[in-house]
Amino acid sequence: MCGIVGYIGDQQAYPVLIKGLHRLEYRGYDSAGIALINEKGDLSCYKAKGKVSALEAAVSDKDVTGTIGIAHTRWATHGEPNEINAHPHFSQSRNLALVHNGIIENYKSLRSMLSSHGRTFCSETDTEVLVQLVEYMQESHDCNLFTATQLALKNVVGAYAIAILDKNNPDTLVCARKGSPLIIGVGKNEDGKNPEFYLGSDATPIIEYTDQVIYLQEEEIALMNRAGDLTITNLANVKQTPQLSTLQLSLDQLEKGGYPHFMLKEIWEQPDALRTCIRGRLNVSNKDVILSGIIDHKEKFINARRIIICACGTSWHSALIGKYFIEEAAQIPVEVEYASEFRYRNPVIYPDDVVIAVSQSGETADTLAAIQLAKQKGAFLYGICNVIGSSIARATDSGTYLHVGPEIGVASTKAFTGQVITLALLGLAIAKEKHSLSDEMFHMLIDELEMIPDKMQWTLEHNKDIASFAQMFTYAKNFIYLGRGYNYPVALEGALKLKEISYIHAEGYPAAEMKHGPIALIDEEMPVVVIAPKKGMYDKIVSNIQEIKSRKGKIISVVTEGDTVVRDMSDYCFVIPDTRDCYVPMLAVIPLQLLSYYVAVAKGRNVDQPRNLAKSVTVE
Ligand code: GLU
Repeated sequence: MCGIVGYIGDQQAYPVLIKGLHRLEYRGYDSAGIALINEKGDLSCYKAKGKVSALEAAVSDKDVTGTIGIAHTRWATHGEPNEINAHPHFSQSRNLALVHNGIIENYKSLRSMLSSHGRTFCSETDTEVLVQLVEYMQESHDCNLFTATQLALKNVVGAYAIAILDKNNPDTLVCARKGSPLIIGVGKNEDGKNPEFYLGSDATPIIEYTDQVIYLQEEEIALMNRAGDLTITNLANVKQTPQLSTLQLSLDQLEKGGYPHFMLKEIWEQPDALRTCIRGRLNVSNKDVILSGIIDHKEKFINARRIIICACGTSWHSALIGKYFIEEAAQIPVEVEYASEFRYRNPVIYPDDVVIAVSQSGETADTLAAIQLAKQKGAFLYGICNVIGSSIARATDSGTYLHVGPEIGVASTKAFTGQVITLALLGLAIAKEKHSLSDEMFHMLIDELEMIPDKMQWTLEHNKDIASFAQMFTYAKNFIYLGRGYNYPVALEGALKLKEISYIHAEGYPAAEMKHGPIALIDEEMPVVVIAPKKGMYDKIVSNIQEIKSRKGKIISVVTEGDTVVRDMSDYCFVIPDTRDCYVPMLAVIPLQLLSYYVAVAKGRNVDQPRNLAKSVTVE
């Protein structure tokens, strides 16, 4: 994970870098650091353990002048989060400073090779070998920074996005990537002549200054200089033509808009976010679903032997809901895989399989690797991502963007419901091509789907005052979440939300599995959240609730408006409007998101930046 920012141009770099780090803090926040070269040619570097604000405090009385610099907010993989392991890291001579996002898998052998050549290391990170290796190449091949970086990266196994400063070359900035994202922003200096350059792990540090960007491609290395020249080559030194794109992102989408946390803002944004997601794709008057991503490839879906969905975390939960829906609507067998397992177990993949990657950031390292494996085996790849231009979006043959806007809170909310509705659109679009649903059913599903954003709004309004209720559960050490059918993945997602931001242990189960073991955990201390809409398996879930009540568990239920049976059995009830079984998850998850949010707030947790987590998991 980690966030990288860089700048070279006429402006002072520090304000650009620090603001950029704040924007990227969702990617990691256990330490932060910055390196700048000032007018006199001094290379200064400051680091602090903890958040970006700690770095700001640490530099308050320091010289942070300079018009070239790099900065980093870390999510440690190698070496504990402390000041020494924080980036930037230095070469032996301290002339080179480097920031890195990713993992250098062969760092141990590189480190011993470099040690045998007299290099000494200060940190425990894998990153430090990179900067030492670049300098070693510079010296042993008597070459410039750019060539030395190319040579060094040829010896590296693993993933990286890097940016390097050279004290002896204060007019150039070098960066490269493989497996981790890196974007170059091309702005205009005040004189309007030479371009200035920005670097970011995503576009959020750049958007304020320019909407013109270049997405650096795999194994590309770039050299930017103060004269405004940009050279991009691959590792074999073959020149690449930079492709300029225009960003579709606005600054106010990145602000909290009056909410205390991004997570709460994003929970409340869901109705609008989903309206945007279905706009132009769901046509109620013509009773049609138009997904451009499948129109050109419909044969692939019609003839698919199987669909495999690869995902991680919350995306895996939405994928499971997608499986139930696609199987029911389109009658194609669907398997849902943890990308991290799938990629390492030589799975059977047929050329007539469709492999779908679901990832909010589109950068999830395991999901990317899983689809690369599927591609080698000849499958057709489809991507469902939120971030436009992300690695997964580019690696797939086709796909659909969520269009739910940037998600900053580390615990995913609107991306989850966005994924669920996108998978529903996909299921309907395939069903249309395969004629697997009756016209009547198809039309009904379209009409009802269109009403989901309004019903989400209703759900938010009717469940918003739960702060004092949530307070009652700060004592709990464990929670159980239960659901059946479409709501089993919602139980998993509700439990994950609570774990992520309140650090209370929680488990999600299919309700009927309780009696095969977990029921032993029930006592008067145990809150049990049951998703019990008045739908298909209602009577069964009522019995499951009864079993828990008999063992004195505390019942918190999610029920359909007007329900009295489950309401009477519950200690607390969340209400949702009636909808079709398959769409209940998009409504039922809302009170669970609010519950985890308010429990975490009551426990004084840092909701947007929970410990040990980062938003975009670009390491394995
Ligand atoms: N591996 C590097 C470190 O531990 C970078 C980590 C990352 O990108 O998440 O410092």
